[in-house]
Amino acid sequence: MLKMSDMKIEDTVILWDCSRSMVRAHKKTSRLRVAQKIIAHFIETKLSIDPKDSISVVIFGSRTKKLTDFSNYPDDLKESLKKFEIMGKTKLDDGIAFALQLLVKQIQKIGGKIYRIFVVTDISKYKLSDRLKKMAKLANGLGIFIDICQIGGKPVEEDKNVLKKIAKATRAEYAFFLNMKALIRGVEGFASKKITQESEDYFDPNKEKKIPKLITEVSVDLRRPSINEIREMMKSKVDYKCQICYQNQCPVCKSPFYACGRFCPSCGRPIHLHCASMWAERSDFPEKNVFRCPFCYFLLKIPKSVQKLMSVTGGQSIKIMDNEDLAGRPVKMVRIPDEEIVDIDDACSYCNTIFSPGEKVYQCNACNSYYHERCLSEMYNELKACRVCGGKIT
Ligand SMILES: [Zn+2]
Ligand SMILES: [Zn+2]
Ligand SMILES: [Zn+2]
Ligand SMILES: [Zn+2]
Ligand SMILES: [Zn+2]
Repeated sequence: MLKMSDMKIEDTVILWDCSRSMVRAHKKTSRLRVAQKIIAHFIETKLSIDPKDSISVVIFGSRTKKLTDFSNYPDDLKESLKKFEIMGKTKLDDGIAFALQLLVKQIQKIGGKIYRIFVVTDISKYKLSDRLKKMAKLANGLGIFIDICQIGGKPVEEDKNVLKKIAKATRAEYAFFLNMKALIRGVEGFASKKITQESEDYFDPNKEKKIPKLITEVSVDLRRPSINEIREMMKSKVDYKCQICYQNQCPVCKSPFYACGRFCPSCGRPIHLHCASMWAERSDFPEKNVFRCPFCYFLLKIPKSVQKLMSVTGGQSIKIMDNEDLAGRPVKMVRIPDEEIVDIDDACSYCNTIFSPGEKVYQCNACNSYYHERCLSEMYNELKACRVCGGKIT
């Protein structure tokens, strides 16, 4: 028989898919609302089983954002669900990387609990990248369960079901639901305690060896300002100062914060991409694009393209290298189909404003930056090149 003493306190990160596909109406209500309801139900059920468990809520899409730190106050947790944002396309890899980092922090603080990730998503087809495989392996090694609840979408054949594979690799559960009744019961199952036969202690000496492997796989991108944040910055309602250089304008590229500025996805502090890049250069990691947030120590990474263009010489003096690999090579500007314009989760790299339906939008095939048609022609007259990557427009 199961005794209460066999059950450990659980720390769970809820990973809530807030990508655009979740907003499309599914029967009467959107999947996003369904997800919000069942996450609230998960929180209530879980904390009524054991009020000592704690939960953190993270939303993900094209970006990842923490809605709340670990807490065991159901009302606070449920309140935080109202702060969701819709964020482009699903990047499950980044969401899982983020959740793993949060849990590793918990493991280092207080070991001996059960650590779980609870993913709520509607993705059915997803690429099983090497990074995902490595992260699932790592999670399993650390004793972290990745439970996955798929709502809506299409049922997927066994051998192509990436979500199920990830859950299985961590000895966790995967379930697919189409109707609300089954979903409610299913969520109660997910909220119940994990029973583990073996009582592993992750403070054993081997743990030290496992954690360094985290570095490359779980580092996450700095968060781009959202369209609303960019709008507010352009109206100069908020004047962000980079926490490394204490300025709004980037000392390297001279762009204002709305263009070069990013946010630490964990502590939310504003940092210029180029300042972060210099910081990463000085860090001790073998990968020169990986670094810890100077303030909260979260593992972050800089896009390799930015890192390549940067060079730090003699401490403070900085120059942007002319990299023959990138600058000057021919690039194509590809027209984005009109129906895909609403899915662009980015602003024009020339004028920094967003795209509205009915406008003609082009994308650089080398660096993926987007441009309005009029901005592209202005840029062509001025530079004959892509402003972001320096590629020659052909
Ligand atoms: Zn800066
Ligand atoms: Zn910059
Ligand atoms: Zn931070
Ligand atoms: Zn533009
Ligand atoms: Zn480009």
